[in-house]
Amino acid sequence: MSSIQVTLCEARQLSKTPSSVKGKIGSRCPACGSSGTEIFFEIPEFPTLSNVLLKTAEAARQWPKAPIRLGFCHGCGWIGNTAFDSRLVNYGEHYENSLHYSAVFRKYAERLARYLLHRFHLKGKDLIEIGCGQGDFLHSLCELGWNRGVGFDPSFSPERAHSNGRQDIRFVRDYYSPQYANYRCDFLCCRHVLEHIEDPKSFLQNVRQALDGRKRAKLYFEVPNALFTLRGMGIWDPIYEHRSYFSRYSLRFLFASSGFRVLSMRERFGGQFLCLDAEMASHGKGEGANCTGGRKQLRRMAGDVRNFAGAYRRKVEKHRAFLRESKRRGKKIALWGAGSKAVNFLNVFRREKAVEFVVDLNPFKQGMFIPGTGQNIVAPEFLLNYHADSVVVMNPIYQREISAHLKSLGLHPEMIPA
Ligand SMILES: [Zn+2]
Repeated sequence: MSSIQVTLCEARQLSKTPSSVKGKIGSRCPACGSSGTEIFFEIPEFPTLSNVLLKTAEAARQWPKAPIRLGFCHGCGWIGNTAFDSRLVNYGEHYENSLHYSAVFRKYAERLARYLLHRFHLKGKDLIEIGCGQGDFLHSLCELGWNRGVGFDPSFSPERAHSNGRQDIRFVRDYYSPQYANYRCDFLCCRHVLEHIEDPKSFLQNVRQALDGRKRAKLYFEVPNALFTLRGMGIWDPIYEHRSYFSRYSLRFLFASSGFRVLSMRERFGGQFLCLDAEMASHGKGEGANCTGGRKQLRRMAGDVRNFAGAYRRKVEKHRAFLRESKRRGKKIALWGAGSKAVNFLNVFRREKAVEFVVDLNPFKQGMFIPGTGQNIVAPEFLLNYHADSVVVMNPIYQREISAHLKSLGLHPEMIPA
């Protein structure tokens, strides 16, 4: 039986008989230490890296796989892969997840940079970014506010640095830890990293320790919004790299219990991102862990979690019918966006073999292959000769940008939201 069949069977079983999951208890919650998480969804095999650059279709199909077993903690609202093994996830120079080739994303990042500079009065200050990628965002923060920056990222590649030779931006190809406590820091930002960390609480406590002498330092963290996945039907969001899926409640709880004071939280990027501003809590122990209405939020999330498998199954079956019918009629289908969502989508529908190519604006991804299934990643111009009948849009926020790009090429395929 293929992994996809197992997935659907289990999703069906879980959604029809919620009581059947009650006996399935996952590992201890890494955020609050509660003894058991409730398993509510399972994908038996998933590529261990979704944003890895693979040079042949064969290497892509042979890429290692491991289970995703999502659990929910009734104590703090943490959701995550209870089967996660960090030894299988190795971020190096072959890891590529920059979204800066999209104008929509660049605009978002620039507005965010301006917001942070204004909110925290960052002018002539010392900044640290954890998980800086190739330094695009850190560069914006430093250039717009005449700040000095240090970026930490093991996948940083000096040849691709966007620092334009600036002397006041440095990069460290390593994980940030207390050994870097001597680095000056007025402001620390960390975007789309926390969800990758095996033990998020220890990670935050380490950050707290590293910043111990910087009592006035401010922090900004950004993670995918679990509620977009659960309620907004973002069913293609789970990937192996993601240990955790945070909601407002669980993120606030984690920060407050790790020695920080949460200043504000908000949803951005069409509700897909959760953004948190924080500062050091005055007495080591964080403040605000028990936010108003927290228990109500937690109960509601428990309901969302129970409904997820059913919503997943309905959406998968709808897409499967479309892919099969398109294939039967000899239609050509391309996907747009070779990121995590595409890896999930294509691995779910690997038996359908209905999609041959995936378009991506990132030139470093073009010519590479999708982990697990081996589709070729191509530039938009490839479609001039391929003439796709349909383009599946993996992320709805890019729909207008993609539509405009296709029109500029004189192409008018049917647009299918994933
Ligand atoms: Zn917990």
